[in-house]
Amino acid sequence: MAFGVVKTIIQALHNATNQCSTLLSLHEPTFAGNEWTYVKETIDTGWVSTAGKYVNDFEVRLQEYTGAKRAIAVANGTAALHVALLLAGVERDTEVIMPALTFAATAAAAAYIGAVPHFADSEYATLGMDPDKLAAHLDAVAERRGNATYNRQTGRRIAAIVPMHTFGHPVRLDELCAVCEKWGIVMVEDSAESLGSFYKGKHTGLFGKLGILSFNGNKTITTGGGGAILTDDDALGDLAKHITTTAKLPHKWEYVHDMVGFNYRMPNLNAALGCAQMEQLPGFLQKKRTLAERYIKAFAGVDGVSFAAEPADSVSNYWLNAILLDKADMALREDILEKTNAAGFMTRPAWRLMNRLPMYAGAPRMDLSVAEDLEARLINIPSGAGLAG
Ligand SMILES: *Cc1c(COP(=O)(O)O)cnc(C)c1O
Repeated sequence: MAFGVVKTIIQALHNATNQCSTLLSLHEPTFAGNEWTYVKETIDTGWVSTAGKYVNDFEVRLQEYTGAKRAIAVANGTAALHVALLLAGVERDTEVIMPALTFAATAAAAAYIGAVPHFADSEYATLGMDPDKLAAHLDAVAERRGNATYNRQTGRRIAAIVPMHTFGHPVRLDELCAVCEKWGIVMVEDSAESLGSFYKGKHTGLFGKLGILSFNGNKTITTGGGGAILTDDDALGDLAKHITTTAKLPHKWEYVHDMVGFNYRMPNLNAALGCAQMEQLPGFLQKKRTLAERYIKAFAGVDGVSFAAEPADSVSNYWLNAILLDKADMALREDILEKTNAAGFMTRPAWRLMNRLPMYAGAPRMDLSVAEDLEARLINIPSGAGLAG
């Protein structure tokens, strides 16, 4: 029985990708535009590091594409999240509500500040934070004191809610915004995976006070390593730029810094790559959609699994495609991972839930039954734009 399922999965992967021999990685970058020209220019002119035109160019391109008033390019998505949480008012010994089903960086960014992750459950429709379950959980454990909301069980202030758009699929942002508003809790969107994903026509990352993007090598576009902070608040945008570039006051020669700043800036060399990648983003998204449509067709006839399609009210970038086993079955999951990788298709399980990592074992959490179920059922399959030909 299990063997039959695995065979049909491998057949579906062949059918959708037209590939059978070389190893297909999970998300290969595509460099088919002006990458070489722009990067070479930074080397030819010597402006590879903290000065040069590409950082500003890249930020403007991000603003124009997403509609964010401000985009601040930084060293990586994790750094962007660290600073976004700081600017949102997260402090030591406060709590940050985030999905248990996320990449480790979401929780790490809170931990850098000395804040405590507070894990929320996911829902099947979006694979992200469940707003209804969160609302019920807050009704049960939270208490409003003045302008702030506290966790009655731990006594700590709940400083932020951080939804994450899993594999590029937007969460139900309207409902989450309503929960944040009711409790006066700031939203920061971990939209690291969702460049090119829209909720009700608006780009993800713009619904909270701040949002972040990642341009790691495996994301929809890459700068080698990189990230960005998005915000519609000019003052926060200025502060984000200042604090991520060592908080140095402009002066002809004096080194005066007015805050503890971070050296989180994106080098010009990386931004040059980013500019070339941004020019190709619409094409990448089109190809990724074509690939997802091929997967939907190929997996329609496969018993025992379904394909994770974009949620209602949303346009997904289909960053990472995923199949979902009908039932949680760790032995079958292991078998599929083993045999698909052996057949040349890189597949990966979803992340180990954050609450199961040793650093966060004692962290507060709600019932996580859906996240636990998804963890045992999700498998990511090859997703690079290049696969759609
Ligand atoms: C990729 C990613 C990040 C971090 O981005 P880096 O650029 O790798 O630091 C954060 N959160 C999520 C959900 C991610 O997928």
